[in-house]
Amino acid sequence: MRLVRLLANLGYGTRKEVALAIRNGWVTDRAGRPLTADARTPHEDILFDDEPLDPAPGMVLLLNKPVGYTCSTKDRGRLVYDLLPDRFRLRKPVLSTVGRLDRDTSGALLFTDDGVLLHRIIAPKSEVPKVYEAELDRPLKGDEAAQFASGTLMLDGEDKPLKPAELEVLGERRARLTLHEGRYHQVRRMFAATGNHVTALARIRIGALTLDGLAEGTWRLLDERDVAKIF
Ligand code: URA
Repeated sequence: MRLVRLLANLGYGTRKEVALAIRNGWVTDRAGRPLTADARTPHEDILFDDEPLDPAPGMVLLLNKPVGYTCSTKDRGRLVYDLLPDRFRLRKPVLSTVGRLDRDTSGALLFTDDGVLLHRIIAPKSEVPKVYEAELDRPLKGDEAAQFASGTLMLDGEDKPLKPAELEVLGERRARLTLHEGRYHQVRRMFAATGNHVTALARIRIGALTLDGLAEGTWRLLDERDVAKIF
């Protein structure tokens, strides 16, 4: 791909702006030699303003989402994209969230520009387990685990029962719930169906991928080994 298009697709500017950056000599190889617009230098050897280029398409990243951020590209208020470099919002192919977390849910949120991967994770047939920890308004009654595991629980307004889900009691008002599907507000609606109310919710794991050491509000790129942990 021509350098101008590559840089524009990575969000470094419009084609006009990146063409100017190239003419100004701000785009170099690792030895500091300015690149011309028709250079065929490998992606990993290109520097923009002395910094390595952002990852090529096929990028996957994991954000530890704080409460108060919306999974949307445009909305009033704070957006999950505000926690990433501005350039990432301008990338082509588009960097999307892999499913969504509610504004008031924290924890593991994936982003990718790889449509096939995204589909593999969120397609209805995908059984990638997603693990949540919930704080509840009222004490658990004791029959929730059986209800959630039954595969017969119906949520209001839906015509298909939920897939079996595993509940682990962590305290009188705390539980860990593993889901194998992702319906709208699913955890909150499941507890609502048992007469309870979720007061705090965090996603702590997607497949075998955890947030280990990732501070709230920060993100990291995933490599192939990380991605393999999702499935
Ligand atoms: N279930 C919910 O209710 N909310 C989320 O953000 C994720 C799962």
